[in-house]
Amino acid sequence: MADLTLRFYEELNDFLAPGLRRQDIVRPYHRRTSVKDLIESFGVPHTEVELILVNGVSVDFSHIVRPGDRISVYPVFEALDVTPLVRLRPAPLRTPRFIADVNLGRLARYLRLLGFDCYYANDLKDAEVAHISVTESRIVLTRDRALLQQRIITHGYFVRADQPRTQVREVLTRLDLLRQVQPFTRCTRCNGVLEPVDKQAVLDALQPKTRRYYNEFRRCTVCGQVYWKGSHFDRALQLIAAITRPPAG
Ligand SMILES: [Zn+2]
Repeated sequence: MADLTLRFYEELNDFLAPGLRRQDIVRPYHRRTSVKDLIESFGVPHTEVELILVNGVSVDFSHIVRPGDRISVYPVFEALDVTPLVRLRPAPLRTPRFIADVNLGRLARYLRLLGFDCYYANDLKDAEVAHISVTESRIVLTRDRALLQQRIITHGYFVRADQPRTQVREVLTRLDLLRQVQPFTRCTRCNGVLEPVDKQAVLDALQPKTRRYYNEFRRCTVCGQVYWKGSHFDRALQLIAAITRPPAG
């Protein structure tokens, strides 16, 4: 009875090699290791994990596995009532703030268009993404599993989809954020907050047609970009319609 038995539940199976999904995985016990390192050796980032049971008892990531242990690993968004047990994180990040890694620039712009706070810069190193995530309580969005394995990151989401519109739908659905969409509140260029501004104050920045047809304007409090309830707002509404529509087929 020196083997370890692991089982991963629900969408954590996305990360496993096909032959290991949705079944008990038996491995010989080799050496002293934490349950975090054991789980990640299967390619499952720890940020995806909400609950770990070892022989039916909830443990944290630092738990050292022993020969014969049976380990059950549950995902963050599993609809399973785990309140009486130890959750691995004290509380969800209530007002979600994001940091998108360098490969997710269009997703970052879409999230801003829908009013979400999403830090993005195209030259960040992994260590900088991790540091900003922790110091500013931002959820890391990435398609890079190695980034999510950085120990200091507590809140991260591995984006499965590869098309930006599908990605934004995936993130908002999986994190249950569709009701928090607030278009026309955030600058898509720099992530700054928009504030209402009098038309008179921005007349010089407007094309003649915009000056003629629009009366409601907002301006970015950080970079000064002017937005009006025309193109920007319409794009947001189209995106909302697209991502809330059930997938075709
Ligand atoms: Zn701005």
